[in-house]
Amino acid sequence: MSEALRAAPCGLDLYWDEGVTAYDFGPGHPMDPARLALTMRLVESFGLTEAPGVTVRAAPPAGESTLRLVHTGEYVAAVKRVAADPALTDRRHGLGTDDNWAFTAQHSASALIAGQSVAAAEAVWQGGHGHGHAVNFAGGLHHAMPDRAAGFCVYNDAALAVARLLELGAERVAYVDLDVHHGDGVQRAFWDDPRVLTVSIHEHPATLFPETGWATESGGPDAPGSAVNLPLPAGTGDAGWLRAVHAIVPELLSAFRPQVLVSQHGADTHADDPLAHLAVSLDAQRLAAETVHELAHRYADGRWVALGGGGYAVVDVVPRSWTHLVATAAGQPVDPAAETPEEWRTEVRRLTGQRAPLRMTDGAEPGWRDFHDHGYDPGDRLDQAILATRRAVFPQHGLLP
Ligand SMILES: [Zn+2]
Ligand SMILES: [Zn+2]
Repeated sequence: MSEALRAAPCGLDLYWDEGVTAYDFGPGHPMDPARLALTMRLVESFGLTEAPGVTVRAAPPAGESTLRLVHTGEYVAAVKRVAADPALTDRRHGLGTDDNWAFTAQHSASALIAGQSVAAAEAVWQGGHGHGHAVNFAGGLHHAMPDRAAGFCVYNDAALAVARLLELGAERVAYVDLDVHHGDGVQRAFWDDPRVLTVSIHEHPATLFPETGWATESGGPDAPGSAVNLPLPAGTGDAGWLRAVHAIVPELLSAFRPQVLVSQHGADTHADDPLAHLAVSLDAQRLAAETVHELAHRYADGRWVALGGGGYAVVDVVPRSWTHLVATAAGQPVDPAAETPEEWRTEVRRLTGQRAPLRMTDGAEPGWRDFHDHGYDPGDRLDQAILATRRAVFPQHGLLP
């Protein structure tokens, strides 16, 4: 972290309402709400909720008019209908399907999560200049479409946060999505809107849901270059993933000059994630969060909204990854070598019956080669992917591919 950054402590609003754990598709579904509860308990047991500059806040659920910034009235009505009778199936709206099981809190818990992200956006925007960060790790439900639930996502809190920023007068909002899956719902919401730059770095659509996110998807006719997609080969590890992030994100942000940065930190890039096929470590995820933090200061006047996302290694990965995210945003990093607190291990056993990880690291020491300094290797599939993305959008931003 730079000296300037260290000299000015960051203010962090951490959005949390225990009610978000009612976002629960039911026993056996990968989106286990224990991932959220165990993250908050780990954040607390490291004292981060009491740390200087950190305020824990809870916002009300997003109301109908807010949800309709992104979603159709018909879809919101459908969610409420299915929540009232979870025996229903509504395939047209993606509800009660194989992925998105119906449950009674489907509307209320989804709206509560969205409310936290929207409030986070408002706080960061209205906080004026500099050093205003907000985190909602329960959010980042980036697959939800205007009229359809998808990929375990009911309301698209990430898109709603961006839409609220636009409503408040923001003219340039950047959205950076590090989840292993393509941020398709957010891309769709702002496909033809030049005020929003969406950048998604994800596993290749040929091997993973939602099978979109090709480099050639680059925005609608009124917003060429506003959608950026970097699909990575299955198996990409720390060095490749970090190389990819650094090869496209900083330059795009420097050209786009966002007034606010919204980021999505899905932890499902991890090697242990059961639903995807990248091989990223906790340590690289932590480094990426630090990079996003620095970029928010460098290019967005410190205005940063950080969201969670996917992540299905409920005990071993998600809580540690997002605790590092919160600690980073608070400007009070947790030492990767630190042991996990005993009280948290007890909570893990109580809630899941599993053994907790013992340290805040995977023991990886990620190194990566900078794309700019070392050029690219035409025989390397990762470098081919990076170059394809740069060619698809960099010229639209006045950048050399
Ligand atoms: Zn900061
Ligand atoms: Zn995901």
